[in-house]
Amino acid sequence: MIRVEERPLPAEAERGLQAWQAEIDGVVDFARRVETGKQRFSGKNRRDNAVFAVVRQVLAEMCRGVVRCMYCEDSLADEIEHHKPKHFFPSQVFQWKNYLFSCGPCNGTKRNQFSVFTDSGEMIVDGELVGRLAEPVGDSVLLNPRVDDPLEFMKLDLVGHTYNFFPTADDGTVSRRRAEYTIEILRSKRRDIGPATRRKAYEGYRARLTEYIFHRDRGGDAVHLDQLKKALLGESHPTVWHEMLRQQKDIPELKALFDQAREALVWR
Ligand SMILES: [Zn+2]
Repeated sequence: MIRVEERPLPAEAERGLQAWQAEIDGVVDFARRVETGKQRFSGKNRRDNAVFAVVRQVLAEMCRGVVRCMYCEDSLADEIEHHKPKHFFPSQVFQWKNYLFSCGPCNGTKRNQFSVFTDSGEMIVDGELVGRLAEPVGDSVLLNPRVDDPLEFMKLDLVGHTYNFFPTADDGTVSRRRAEYTIEILRSKRRDIGPATRRKAYEGYRARLTEYIFHRDRGGDAVHLDQLKKALLGESHPTVWHEMLRQQKDIPELKALFDQAREALVWR
């Protein structure tokens, strides 16, 4: 998961979402409000809906690489995902800021996996949220790549070649629990194929950088070199690239490459 760059939703689409949200907010009974929200969302979230065509377009522009899923960074994103699930948060059904773009498997796996921290720091997990008669109050435990920078909470193990994420915050802190929870959700989404795809991405980035150095050293022109840079940045798993930049000093084969191409240390 990597921080996504925010883009504004055009005002007309924003007004469309707000009008639908107001309709849901007007339903008094909580259980009915949840049901109304789900029904309205599946009714509106269609390819031929003008507002959702714009929502999809802007979300796609916010994705890294070639419209990669905001969770796994591996597959094509084509589904609108609610960071706060509509099952628990009817007030968030048509909230632009609550939308992420994900692939089918990630959207399908996450469903209602969501936990919150109460004011006292207690963690309420999804199972305990079921059957409540009001929206949970508290902060999201799951990191939101539109708000949080996941690389501030976790690190990818490149040095040990496991390609697993591990939390970096101190034990017992809120940041630590958010990192652990997010890593577990990400892991469950991809059923453990994550490390293999990240390893492949690592090898791909390394090869792309080697190719760039090869052509640069043989006098490749600026346009060609820029194409090679863009091709590298368009690959899946941008987190792997960002970790290569962050950890290159600790990995001899990477340090050797980046020593030859210092300019690549700022490619993002
Ligand atoms: Zn995904």
